[in-house]
Amino acid sequence: MHTLFENCTLCPRACGVDRTRGQTGFCGASDTMRAARAALHFWEEPPISGSRGSGAVFFSHCTLGCVYCQNREIARREAFGQTISPAALADTFLALEAEGAHNINLVTAAHYAPHVVRALALAKQKGLAVPIVYNSSGYEAMETLRLLEGYIDIYLPDDKYYSSYYAARYSAAPDYHEIAIAAITEMARQTGAPAYGADGLLLRGTVVRHLMLPGLAGDTAQVLRDLACRFGDSILVSLMRQYTPFDMRDYPELDRAVTEAEYAEACERFLALGLTGFFQEGEAISESFIPAFDGTGLRGEP
Ligand code: SF4
Repeated sequence: MHTLFENCTLCPRACGVDRTRGQTGFCGASDTMRAARAALHFWEEPPISGSRGSGAVFFSHCTLGCVYCQNREIARREAFGQTISPAALADTFLALEAEGAHNINLVTAAHYAPHVVRALALAKQKGLAVPIVYNSSGYEAMETLRLLEGYIDIYLPDDKYYSSYYAARYSAAPDYHEIAIAAITEMARQTGAPAYGADGLLLRGTVVRHLMLPGLAGDTAQVLRDLACRFGDSILVSLMRQYTPFDMRDYPELDRAVTEAEYAEACERFLALGLTGFFQEGEAISESFIPAFDGTGLRGEP
């Protein structure tokens, strides 16, 4: 599978660079896997975080590049975090499970998919039993999702934009909407309808997140309507309002939080459309969503 790094098309950008020879594409990642944190995480949706937390592994780099990214410290193109082999990543998964993690949560892993599949196979051979969550921007290549089939129990993709104008302006991906819808369709096919354990935690399913942005209520309405029409109750939808502006000098229209009125109206629409899923309370807007990317919990090289 390492050959997949040679002419890289692991995400829809299809840069075609040879990552095994030091070339890098849009994401900036080489063929050596890097991650910045592995720890119990309590800020996912309730049936994913549960009472003991989700075992989140944050990978370095990202294929999307949103101007407002809350994980910008690790998502940037420059190398960040520490290198980790598939074997060490497998041990990291097992350590998180031993700590009590309800699941293993792979945060932005597409550009390392061959390594991640290898790590999951190794960890499962060693007894890893909790569900695997694939936490994604939604900007995914079909071939990469097919590579993951059979390894992922819960897909947690974003559906960020309906409009190609916003997708181009804020994420450098004008084709985002059609790519994300195709990806969500494939994810829902792989997982089937949401299924819960006796403890109320999610065992299988696809949970689509939409982060509201200030002033984009119309785009949010179109995203919700589109999800309801295409997927109905075969997926769960999480309507998020945790957007926190930082240095937005180049995007002054995004330099504020989402208002109570904007969020309340979107919640009403969500219910009127018959969507099933999750809302966020006001106190969710907090720096607590941004953990320390200091290498916590990552296992060393074997
Ligand atoms: S994973 Fe990175 S190098 Fe590969 S196609 Fe996507 S952005 Fe380009």
